Order: sequence, then structure tokens, then C-alpha cells
Amino acid sequence: MTRKRITLSLLMGLSLLSSNVLLLKENSALAKSVTPLERTSKTSLVITQVDNSSPETGVNPESDFFKQAEAEFNVLGEYGKDLYVLYRLVEKLARANNLDERNWRFRLVNQYEINASASELNLLTFYAGLIDQLHGDYEAIACIVGHEMAHHEKNHIPLKVKLADEMERLKQEADQELLAEVQQNQKGSRNVVGGFIGGMVDRVVGTRGLASATGRTLDQSLDNMDAAERQQAQKRAKEIYEEKLAQLNQEFSAKVQEQELESDRFGYLYIARAGLDPQGCFRAMDVLNDLPTSHLPGITHPSTPERIQKLKAIQAEFSTANLVAEGKANLQNSPTPLKYAVSRDGQSIRIESRHNRNINDVL
Ligand SMILES: [Zn+2]
Repeated sequence: MTRKRITLSLLMGLSLLSSNVLLLKENSALAKSVTPLERTSKTSLVITQVDNSSPETGVNPESDFFKQAEAEFNVLGEYGKDLYVLYRLVEKLARANNLDERNWRFRLVNQYEINASASELNLLTFYAGLIDQLHGDYEAIACIVGHEMAHHEKNHIPLKVKLADEMERLKQEADQELLAEVQQNQKGSRNVVGGFIGGMVDRVVGTRGLASATGRTLDQSLDNMDAAERQQAQKRAKEIYEEKLAQLNQEFSAKVQEQELESDRFGYLYIARAGLDPQGCFRAMDVLNDLPTSHLPGITHPSTPERIQKLKAIQAEFSTANLVAEGKANLQNSPTPLKYAVSRDGQSIRIESRHNRNINDVL
């Protein structure tokens, strides 16, 4: 067995904030999925590429490879252990479901949010809060991993991006309308009001899941209004935005929620094919069900009780034994562990497709 040691510097934590995140912020689509981390630590990840093509006698190349991988991730401490778990799950789900034709990327954001997302090209983002809540229950974590992989596989990202762009556009429109109204009501104090209205909606509505505030001088300018004027402006900002959101809801909600249910479905199937107990999906849902907002259907997600009900229907529809058999066949076609490395974005781990080869072996 030949080993090539490559030491790569991996900026854990704040590197997640570099150029990529700035782009995401501009593209409001994904602003929700990446939030600045509070601290940064620079850690070095030693990546050893193991050539499995010449296994030593008596050695199981697969478990040998994974043991080595685990040791390398463990260099990063607790964070590395979580990364290793995610690597193993994405890797196995990819091979067991014939999703290893292309590379995957994943990252773990060290922030206590109970969330995960799929974005860009084949990028999966997981938050530490989610991993913590499901700590040790790998079938439940796998179900979330599968759900996010399904968003990519089923080509859901363009609609997500479009929805987020529309939300941003509506916020700006609402701001403009508010500005016009306030100016009409307060012709004498146009200058005071005009300066701060931009971004009002962001501030007033609270914008769960929306892009960050743009009203830089809002607080300062609010001081220049009397309390009644301020209250009135805030009330109208909320009203106007909610009217617009209702329009958006009508246009997008059904499609986006359908995609969420489709991802739940494939998340379930993916983990079953990987030989993991699909009951993990119900346990993951139980955790989501305890979140304060879970019973309110949002624009993007069906309510958790509805998602659980749909999962039960899937459970009745498929034989787990058949799914396991399908997964085994896929694994036989792709028996070699998928390699990993730090992605060239410097912020995520790349899991390499089954077609990954050395250029000298190709030519
Ligand atoms: Zn989803």
C-alpha cells in the first residue's frame, strides 16, 4: 500500500466566511444558510491519500482506509470527529445510491443552529447545533444528510435561489412603498424620513431566514421621529411586507414544500439503501417537532407533523429489505471508499467521485 502524505492548511471556522460567504450574502438565496462564525481557529489537517489498488495480504483495505481517515480527522479534535461522521455518511449514502458519479462538498458551521442546507453545486452545510441535538444517533443524522443530498440530486436548488431572490426584491419594493407613504404623510420632514427608510422591512419584520439588514442609519434616524411616527412607520412596514409575502407564498409555497417532501422521501430511501435503519428519519423529525416553530407551516417547509405523516406513508410503501438489496448492489458496483480532501474553496471537504484517478494512471 502506498501512502502519499499531503499536509493542507484548513482554516476552520472563520474561513467559512471568506469570499464564498460574501457572495452568498449578495445572493440572498443562501444568506440564511451561512452566518458569520464568532471565532476562528486555524488548524492543520493532514490528509493521507491511500492507494487501495494494492491491498496487503490479510488487510481489509476498506476498514484500513477508514481507520486512517478517522485518525486524520481526529487531529482536529471534537470538530474533526463531527467532520469524520459527516464524511462517512455522505460517502456511504453516495455509493449506496449511485450518487458517486460526481464530487460532493460538505462543511460544518461551528454555530449552534438547528439547521442544515443544500446550496451551490453539490455543497452540503450542517450546523453544529443540529449535530449536537442528534449526537450519537447516526441514523438520524444520516437522514438529514440524505435529505440535503436529495435537494441536489432532484435539482431543487434553482427554485430555492429564485425564491430567496424574490423575497429580497419584495422587501425592497415594500421599502419603496413605505417611503412613498411616509413622504406623502409628512411632506415637511421628507429629508429626515427619506434617509432611513431603506431596510426598514428588514429591521421591523425580524426577517427570520432572510437577508441581513441594509438600513444602516435606521436607529439613528428613528431618533429623529417622534414615538407615534415611528410606531406608525414600523406598523406599515410590517403590513406592506406581509401583503407582499402573501403573494409570494401563493406563487412559491406549494412548489417549494413539495420539494421538501420529496427530499424527505429520498432521504429516507437513501439511508435505507445504505443499510441504516430508516427509523432514524422519525427520530430526526421528533427533534424538529420540538422546535417552537415546527407546527407552523412556513413558506418553505411543511409543518413537521405533516412531514411525519408523509414519512409513515413512505414506510408503508417500501420494503426495507428490498431497499437494502438495491443498496448492496450499488455498493458492489462501487466498492472502494471515496477519497476526501480539503476543497479548493478552502472551506469545505470534498468527497471525490468514484471516477477519481491519478493522471499518471489515466494517460
Ligand atoms: Zn430541505
